[in-house]
Amino acid sequence: MLLTGTGRLAPTGLSPWALLVHDGRIAWIGSPADAPHHERVDLGSALVTPGLVDSHTHPVFAGDRSDETAARLEGARYTEGGILRTVQATRAADDAILERLVEDRLRAALTAGTTTVECKSGYGLSLDEELRHLRIIGRVADRLPVRVATTFLGAHAVPVEGGSMAEYAAHVADDMIPAVAREGLATFVDVFADEGFFDLAATERIGRTAMAAGLGLRLHADQMARTGAAELGARLGAASVDHLEQLDAAGVAAVANSRTVATLLPAPAIVLRDRLPPTRALIDAGATVAIASDANAGTFGGFGAMPLVIGLGAALLGMTVTESLTAATSGGAAALRRPDIGSLRTGIAADLVAWDAEHEGAFALRLGSVRPMRAWIAGDEIAL
Ligand SMILES: [Zn+2]
Repeated sequence: MLLTGTGRLAPTGLSPWALLVHDGRIAWIGSPADAPHHERVDLGSALVTPGLVDSHTHPVFAGDRSDETAARLEGARYTEGGILRTVQATRAADDAILERLVEDRLRAALTAGTTTVECKSGYGLSLDEELRHLRIIGRVADRLPVRVATTFLGAHAVPVEGGSMAEYAAHVADDMIPAVAREGLATFVDVFADEGFFDLAATERIGRTAMAAGLGLRLHADQMARTGAAELGARLGAASVDHLEQLDAAGVAAVANSRTVATLLPAPAIVLRDRLPPTRALIDAGATVAIASDANAGTFGGFGAMPLVIGLGAALLGMTVTESLTAATSGGAAALRRPDIGSLRTGIAADLVAWDAEHEGAFALRLGSVRPMRAWIAGDEIAL
């Protein structure tokens, strides 16, 4: 299949353009005049980009916490109590209900142009519940064309029955991670490393156990307090440290001088009226930056919001539109250690989206209202 267009192929900026797909991968990119003879699919003036990569979501939950959001915006504080409220509602939901909720959320992402979604567990917080939630992600992923990366987030909060933070962290490391690894239920382990959640010693213990079990590591780091979790992630070789709202110059340098991706989550920062991560400093220091939705139960609920997130990356965080689009595609792929997706190069998977826009600047201009017209995953067109 040869895709052609008179619009823009972003973030390359090529226009007009032609792209040859062979065996699900990009086989050639160039000018239509130089294109090999092949059956052509003309996309006219549409903006075409790689499929978006949302490298941070929490889709397995039941219940509704919009009342809590309203209360917080009236001055109430964000605590682990909110997560535990979702845990209670999610434990009470049977498999069929949870599967439908997860499927609806991943479909919302897909129909908004996200072709790869990272999905965390973390609203179960017991061995049986966490395994159940990971299996549900796996079953939904098998039914949908969207690519899914699964992350075990048993260390999201300490459950009511979990004892002390250190005792529960030991349970996560000693009992839960071996079970997750044995069943092959996740690619990554994540820890909510923040004040009032998991301290650096507990995070390091869980992180080292995960990596010894062959799982990748990602951290919620330096969101509410400057704990040094970002440096710990960089030192342990985490794939990504996420949030970073409180990161200072030393933290920026530590992340930039590592292979760990800095994943920025502007949407919950707005809903929480939090400060914004030092985006320009991270980019200027040479860090690999990703942006993701952090769609979850309590601090931002927008599954399918990646077009908005790209706009926020530019309008709010101070990236150029091209930097923001790159962070939402190849940046997200790097955060998931998937060099085979997320960019426009020969040999990369043909995950592509044609948008109802003519220029990538539309993501900023039309904040949240740019829609896909057609999309392909591994060269196969998907129903939107
Ligand atoms: Zn999160």
